[in-house]
Amino acid sequence: MIENEVEKLRNEMVEAMKKMIPIVAISPESGGKGEEERAKFVESLLKDIGFDEIKRIDAIDHLGFKRPNIVAKIYGQNKERTLWIAAHMDTVPEGDRNLWKTDPFKAHVENDKIYGRGTEDNGQALIGAIFAIKAIRNSGTKTKSNIGFIAVSDEEVGSKYGMEYLVEHYDFGKNDSFLIPDSGNEDGSEIEIAEKGILWFSIVTHGIQSHGSRPDLGKNAHRIGMEVSLEIDKILHEKFNSINEIFTPPYSTFEPTKKDANVSNINTIPGTDIIYFDSRVLPSYKIDDVIETIRGVIEKYEKKYNTKIELKIIQKADPAKPTDINDKVVQDLIKILKETRKINPKIIGIGGGTVAAILRRKGYPAVVWSTLDPVEHSPNEYCKISNLVNDAKVFALMYLNF
Ligand SMILES: [Zn+2]
Repeated sequence: MIENEVEKLRNEMVEAMKKMIPIVAISPESGGKGEEERAKFVESLLKDIGFDEIKRIDAIDHLGFKRPNIVAKIYGQNKERTLWIAAHMDTVPEGDRNLWKTDPFKAHVENDKIYGRGTEDNGQALIGAIFAIKAIRNSGTKTKSNIGFIAVSDEEVGSKYGMEYLVEHYDFGKNDSFLIPDSGNEDGSEIEIAEKGILWFSIVTHGIQSHGSRPDLGKNAHRIGMEVSLEIDKILHEKFNSINEIFTPPYSTFEPTKKDANVSNINTIPGTDIIYFDSRVLPSYKIDDVIETIRGVIEKYEKKYNTKIELKIIQKADPAKPTDINDKVVQDLIKILKETRKINPKIIGIGGGTVAAILRRKGYPAVVWSTLDPVEHSPNEYCKISNLVNDAKVFALMYLNF
């Protein structure tokens, strides 16, 4: 049984995690040196297993750093199709060190947990997938389809030099499917097949600054900004109000979030006001229609107050067409989880943000699944060794079934 082969590698998996975590892989934009050193380590693990192809598809980012991406393949009986498991090498920074009980860049093992930045996000998937492949190699089995493994950079800062770059520079087969173990719940019963679209924007309202006692000489940008924002909030919720129960929450969200400071003292009428929104839009809508609606409100208030109000788009990602629930990669995963874990998996959609959306936009079936405690990006992030090993068993079964 392949599960036994994976089980035999338990200690090697923990050791690999302990070696990888001290090789820091924070993106240059977040103050790190990038993923190159970690990529060399990942490559050494892959070379040790023996692949038919190992390719580097490296990007150079706008700061001049090399951002490595690794694509590796073992041929199956049918070379025309590949199941890819993709994980990201980069991590977020450790955050406030004082909140950590142990060194975030030394993997600290305690009972069933390995503590350290990036152990769970996304080390668990990275090490798990590599050792699932090693287990298949050790078993001597030739799989029906190709075994594919991907390690990307830049996931935490938007994937421009990671998966976005890879899909433009590597030829995936038209029959390929993808498993992305980068989101999940505590018992692994959630299979994500859809993501909402994302729109981050700001409303920049221009008025006229004046003394706090003489609003008649100025034009209060803060009041206009609040009015415009409240109306945008109301109209977006009314117009884009459909419900899709696979998502939590099951509707599109439009949230005023950040607010830039305007004047530093109480007795000045602000001449400029900036309010930000984070919106997550159901796949049935187009982001451009949302933008059109916002522009309509802005024009109305520009006329009402005879002033300039700007809309700035900060991030825009159209929702991808969801992966078909009847696709083989989804159905295989449901079957394996039912048989091996005795659970009834639930198909879900999320608020956006995994590399699966990039693949779905290119027309590839992509499922996001893993078994995770909600500790990613937190201080004292950990990966459960049982999740590391048991998810690797599922990965191995997925490769063998495909
Ligand atoms: Zn992640």
